[in-house]
Parts: sequence; C-alpha cells; structure tokens
Amino acid sequence: MTRVFSGVKPTGHLTLGNYLGALRQWAAVGQHRGEALFCVVDLHALTVEHDPARVRRLSRQAASLLLASGLDPELCTVFVQSHVDEHARLSYVMECVATDGEMRRMIQYKEKAARERVRGGSVRLSLLTYPALMAADILAYNADEVPVGDDQAQHVELARDLAVRFNQRYGHTFTVPRATPPAVAARVMNLQDPASKMGKSDDTGPGIVYLLDEPEVVRRKVMRAVTDSGEGGVVYDRVERPGVANLLEILAACAGGEPEELAAGYDSYGALKKDVAEAVVEVLRPVRERHRELCADPGHVEGVLREGAARARGIARPTVDAAYRAIGL
Ligand code: ADP
Repeated sequence: MTRVFSGVKPTGHLTLGNYLGALRQWAAVGQHRGEALFCVVDLHALTVEHDPARVRRLSRQAASLLLASGLDPELCTVFVQSHVDEHARLSYVMECVATDGEMRRMIQYKEKAARERVRGGSVRLSLLTYPALMAADILAYNADEVPVGDDQAQHVELARDLAVRFNQRYGHTFTVPRATPPAVAARVMNLQDPASKMGKSDDTGPGIVYLLDEPEVVRRKVMRAVTDSGEGGVVYDRVERPGVANLLEILAACAGGEPEELAAGYDSYGALKKDVAEAVVEVLRPVRERHRELCADPGHVEGVLREGAARARGIARPTVDAAYRAIGL
C-alpha cells in the first residue's frame, strides 16, 4: 500500500502558497492514496528564533487549518511532530548517516543562515541539521510519496540519499521516498517580490496572502501586487514578467485554465488583478468558514491530534526500533 507523508511548519500563519502548493493537494489527492500522514512539524519551528507561546498557538492553528482545508481524520492521520518521540530519535541516527557537507549544500540553509546573519543573529545548529530531522520525519513512516512544493524538493532528495546509504550500510530498513510535486502552483511567489517565494516565515509583508486574511485584505494585497512594465499587454512570461506570471499562475490554480490562455483574455493588469483577487477570495472562503467552526470546538481538534499521534507512533516505533538495531544500538 502506498504511504504518503508530508508536513507544515508552524513558523507563521499559513499562506496561500502553503494552501495551493500543499494543503489543497493533500486533501484532494494525498489523503486518498493508500495510507496518508500529515504533520504539523513543530520541532522544525525551533530552528530559527522563536517565541514558545507563539509556536504552540501556531501549531494548534496549523492543525485546525489542515482539517479546515479538507483533511479528514477518517481518511488520514493528522498529528503534531513533537507528540511522537520517534522523529527526534531517528533524527540523531540520520545525523550519523549524513555528512556536514551535504547539510551545508542545502539552498534553504544557505538562504536562511544568510538572513539570520544579516539580522545580526546567530545561526542555530538545528538550522543546519534540519534536513536530517526532515529525513527522519519521512523515513520513520517508510513513506513512498512526499507531496511537497518545489522549495522542499532538495530536502526530499537528501532523504532519498540517506535512505539508500543507510540500507546499503546497515541492511534494508527504509523505503526510499520520492517527492510528488503538485500539478499546479508548485511555487507561489511573493506579490511584492516575485523573485522570492510566498513564505510564511519571512515577514508579515503586504506581498503574502494568509489563509485567514479577511476578503478585503486579500483584495487589497492582490490589487497592490507589483506588475511588470513592458509592451504588449498581458502576457505569460516567467522570466521577463515574473509578477504578472505569478498572478496568472495563481488565477489558474484557483479558477482553472492554463496561464498562457488566461493571459489572452486580458488587456489590462487591473482587470487581471480583480479576477485574481475574487478567485483567491472564493478559494479561501470555505477554509476560513470551516476554521471558524473548528475554533468553536477546540476539544475536537485536540482529540484528532491525540488519536493521530497514537496512530503515528504505532507506525513509526517499529521502524525506528529496527533502525536502532541495524546501526548497532
Ligand atoms: P513555509 O515556507 O511557508 O514555511 P513549509 O516549509 O511549512 O512552508 O511548507 C509546507 C508546504 O507548503 C510544503 O509542501 C511546501 O513545499 C509548501 N509551500 C510553502 N510555500 C509555498 C509556496 N510559496 N508555493 C507553493 N508551495 C509552498
């Protein structure tokens, strides 16, 4: 049976990028493919400066948004990473299989470490070893498929390498996973800076649409999105017109169609933005409504997470025990 695993970090409020690139796909496809586990990866939120109370609050909110996005606990397992000790146990083993060179080559590490240094902060060691924990997240469940956006592909590739290496050195223990990117919206870009992705952890900038933004806020952010100067009306060109291309891709992901064909239907950026804003508002409406219902019943979310952790533990423990035995513990 196919096993699917993926996660979301509670480092900030979830964004439209998280939804189109991950959550929506998990609900539509992932949870229907064999056995699926979706996790709020709170240990990963400690790799950069954090506020304990905020991380705890954002973890609950992320869990609630997973359910609000359509994940059904009858079909899949929803849980919080730190509730299952096996992640941390296996992470150390992964650190003993990986090399520091591999970790230092990771693009996200380089970018985030550079950002921390610019801010004058120090870089936590866990930011460097993050991919070892992520490999543990995936391998503990012997996942076959890891549905993630483009930005996580390199980390999944490393998890594959570590699984292969571990199996070769210590005997077959882990399934070798593969990343399964979404068909559309693998990378939603920041509306104010289309060269960088719409990431929740970056800031609270006007270029990021959050899942829980009020419709008026969504409209304002989309209408103020940067577009590109250039002749020739609305065209889809990722290289020369990244701002407009991003809007067309968001529209395609929310309302259907192909970006190139959608472009042909507009002769002004203003009309395009209006349609993008309405499409985003409509896509987010049911998520916000369901989230509001869940907020009124926190006991329900707690129950789902408790059951989810028990189920996840039951799957991960035998695998991690086997890995400990294989490596000589
Ligand atoms: P973030 O960068 O927002 O902290 P996470 O690391 O928590 O994101 O990723 C959760 C999921 O959301 C991953 O599958 C990731 O690939 C996806 N994702 C995050 N940002 C985007 C984006 N801008 N476009 C598409 N998918 C994204």
